Amino acid sequence: MHPSLQQDLSQFPQILDQVRQLAATFLAGLHERPVCPPLAAQQLKPGDDRLSDEGVGAQAALDYFWQRYADGISASAGPRYFGFVTGGVTPAALAADWLVSAIDQNSQLSHDTIAAAIELAAIEQLKSLLGLPADFSGTLVSGATMANFCGLAIGRQWLGERYGVNVAQQGMAALGKVQVLAASPHSSSEKALSMLGIGRDALQLVATLPDSEAIDPDALERHLAAHPTTPTLVLASAGTVNTVAFDNIPRLLALRERYGFWLHVDAAFGGIAASSPAYAPLLEGWQQADSITVDAHKWLNVPYDSAIQFTRHLALQMQVFQNQSAYLEAPDLRPDNYLHLTPENSRRFRALPLWMSLVAYGRSGVRDMVERNVQLAKRLGEGLAASRGFQLLAPVNLNVVCFALTDVVGDAEAARDGFLERLNQHGAIRCTATRYRGQPAVRAALVNWMTEEQDIALALEALRTCRFTAA
Ligand SMILES: *Cc1c(COP(=O)(O)O)cnc(C)c1O
Repeated sequence: MHPSLQQDLSQFPQILDQVRQLAATFLAGLHERPVCPPLAAQQLKPGDDRLSDEGVGAQAALDYFWQRYADGISASAGPRYFGFVTGGVTPAALAADWLVSAIDQNSQLSHDTIAAAIELAAIEQLKSLLGLPADFSGTLVSGATMANFCGLAIGRQWLGERYGVNVAQQGMAALGKVQVLAASPHSSSEKALSMLGIGRDALQLVATLPDSEAIDPDALERHLAAHPTTPTLVLASAGTVNTVAFDNIPRLLALRERYGFWLHVDAAFGGIAASSPAYAPLLEGWQQADSITVDAHKWLNVPYDSAIQFTRHLALQMQVFQNQSAYLEAPDLRPDNYLHLTPENSRRFRALPLWMSLVAYGRSGVRDMVERNVQLAKRLGEGLAASRGFQLLAPVNLNVVCFALTDVVGDAEAARDGFLERLNQHGAIRCTATRYRGQPAVRAALVNWMTEEQDIALALEALRTCRFTAA
């Protein structure tokens, strides 16, 4: 054995102690760590990109990484990182994720590990938490982008079946043109359309309701009536990233009854709201969708990369993703036969952090995260509305605050960018840019389990401080 490997084999316990200590120190300092390290700290130092011949061993490599690069790590796991939609990591999920690498199971049905059974159990618990019925099956994928990809892939297969084509066998060309209808789709769906051979051009934007990002069902119906023979996928939003708008799913279901289309619901973070009786009505009807996307690494606070793809069409899913070989489990139709249900073959045991977090905190633990984040987002929104120089662009529907700067002299976009740069340098809170109804805007999305009242006070202080100071 190579001497560095030999040495590390004998020092496994010390290596684990060392990384535990680094992690503990990191977590203890998370509240003070900047959310956005300086650009220089995000780059490699000269001479660090060459492969050595002998290697230095794990402990020296850990030291080397930490001493040189810890300053380049953002506090994105902390309570005041409101950029994008960024969840943290619950202690149970972290513990499980460490184990995932230590035990290194291949999470497919192979009859030599519990991993697939735990994944199935995690899916069942999640269905119970979110009120999804028994006829849904689910699989863990790397993120909502892949969940959207899978949902649309199964929808593509379903369209083929309706038009007498097996797309998985014959390819998209045999089916021909498909239309994809949506009002405010997440950009990842367009990426999925590109990967699926459906093409980004297949997406047709449908009008929204006035002053909303939610789809106008009448506009959708006019479109469906005008193209009655075109194979159609409808992409509903259950929580848009700017204003957390929810499409009216019961209305979409009624249209599906009349016109026949595949209904995919992107509920990447909004779906977790179903864990609260107060917000579950926002998702009314999603129990009848054909496929659903839910992220685990956002509002469920498990580490990257983790999401769930749900569908009520397991057999079609298996037609798309089956992978037959003499040495592998046969594609028998069962919900835990993951090799034949997901884009990957070999798979990380990514269900364990989700399972362990659900076991550790239960129904009311998730509900607490959701309701606390919503309450704090409303608090942040009220604080901003009452502050000079800010304006809410939409009511705080759920957990995202979408706002703009007022009293701007000159270019609004440049002013917004300058403000965000000052905010990043300040370091206490991270918000990210967007455009809402043509206007340069800022978003704060609250999905971290640690966020509390005092974080909102600190956030408002940072926002007000950075609003009128010069660059
Ligand atoms: C974040 C998000 C996605 C993409 O999710 P990833 O996990 O980054 O792949 C898709 N849809 C919505 C609504 C999202 O919020």
